[in-house]
Amino acid sequence: NARVEDYLAAQVASRAEADAVSDVTGIALSYGGLDAASDALVSVLEDAGVQKADRVLILSENCVAAVALLFACWKLGARAIPVNARQTESEVDRILAHAEPAAVFMTTSVSKDAKAHATRMGGHEISGDYGSLHMKALTSKPDAEGDVAVLLYTTGTTGDPKGVMLTHSNVRFGGLTSANLRNMKHEDVIYGVLPTTHVFGLCSVVVAAVYAGAPVRLAPRFEVAKLYAALRDGVTLFSGVPQMHALLMQYTKEQGLEKLGSETLRYVSSGAAPLDPTWKREAEAFYGVAIQNGYGMTETTAGTSATSNPIGNSDTSVGPALPGIEIGIDEDVPGGGAGVGEVITRGPHIMKGYYKNPEETAKVLDANGWMHTGDLGRIDDHGLLHIVGRSKELIIHGGFNVYPPEVEAALNDHPKVVQAAVVGRRKDGDEEVLAFVQLADLDALDAESLGAFVSERLVGYKRPKRYVFAKVLPAAPTGKILKHKLVETFADQLD
Ligand code: ATP
Ligand code: MG
Repeated sequence: NARVEDYLAAQVASRAEADAVSDVTGIALSYGGLDAASDALVSVLEDAGVQKADRVLILSENCVAAVALLFACWKLGARAIPVNARQTESEVDRILAHAEPAAVFMTTSVSKDAKAHATRMGGHEISGDYGSLHMKALTSKPDAEGDVAVLLYTTGTTGDPKGVMLTHSNVRFGGLTSANLRNMKHEDVIYGVLPTTHVFGLCSVVVAAVYAGAPVRLAPRFEVAKLYAALRDGVTLFSGVPQMHALLMQYTKEQGLEKLGSETLRYVSSGAAPLDPTWKREAEAFYGVAIQNGYGMTETTAGTSATSNPIGNSDTSVGPALPGIEIGIDEDVPGGGAGVGEVITRGPHIMKGYYKNPEETAKVLDANGWMHTGDLGRIDDHGLLHIVGRSKELIIHGGFNVYPPEVEAALNDHPKVVQAAVVGRRKDGDEEVLAFVQLADLDALDAESLGAFVSERLVGYKRPKRYVFAKVLPAAPTGKILKHKLVETFADQLD
């Protein structure tokens, strides 16, 4: 059976000296170096009593040690559980209780949050060519045999994160599909700021890069000035969530930077959340290359569909299905009809299931192998998929359907708005539209003027009833907004 670490072995066989991964601590490993470092970590795992089919929690921010540890887990046949060190104690404890790992590792050299978790958990520091890591061994029972490579917890946009089991074959498929889509070559230089704890950063960036033999410059967390500097310094390929593109646009306006003027950047992608058309247009003008919009989810090992357009196009779809993947629309759902329905997908990218949760698995995976995504969309005459929103987030106001992304796009059009998030709230037997708006300067805008702006763009029933302005919105470590936390976070500003 083919395994993810075979991609690494293939690079070692042909180009062992080539650059593989580097991080902000100054550590840089070649493919041969990454292979040796992961071998050393296999010994560490074995000494700690970790066995085949055991689970290993990696509390990390992006660094070489985290990547070496992933490969060590795979070489040993253990399941890696990458979890972002920026998650709170209670979020991590919930995952610990659910996943019952045999060992927990923390990337203390690049993350003060990982250090804080290390302090409370105990254990000891280890080090090698990969840098340093903090380790705590626990006792656990290996899973029944199976081909699971990673347990990845979903973002938690709509509720508590779910543990997704992705097999070696899923992760291999996700990596090679992403690499081929981007035409990744070993001459590329990849900026790795998407967390390797999320499917987009793990499969579409790191595994794809190892498949292609390209070097990845790992960044532990998103800092807009560092992204800008990296783009000016030889990066050829950058994948980010839409919020990263939006924050870069805000930065370029503040700094008066109109164009990147990089001769090396050749591919930019966006995924994991809706790409606002205004952001796309502005960011493309800045990058000088097109932004390709990919649609996927943790359960589909990242990409299901993606665009491949020339720069300056006005395509608002998420493109056609990727090779080997089927997509369809199930109109027989709430909010469905007239071509719009739940997006379903089938193929080698579909997860094995939710860990220890066969009931939830049965709700989303049907007998014919289709994954029911919970996203609403339509497929146009050219076979392009358009996402209109999530079914859980559909707002039914006065009997009319309101799709939050459309309202968010109207708000994002305002030059003072950094980003906006729209959710529904049940009130007096109806559902009202609430808008949470991030501003760089809280005095720059008020509800009245933004309401007037929106009135020119949206019919009455789609217009937000209430506006909450804030300097930051609750977000996941990727930068995705945690919509189900908005109302509770700003409860004191809502009646
Ligand atoms: P949870 O399932 O825990 O509520 P989540 O669904 O946000 O969180 P992820 O797996 O990170 O967790 O995200 C997948 C979701 O992100 C998709 O179901 C879809 O709603 C959204 N998404 C991903 N890519 C795009 C895109 N290009 N355009 C619009 N939405 C997207
Ligand atoms: Mg989801």
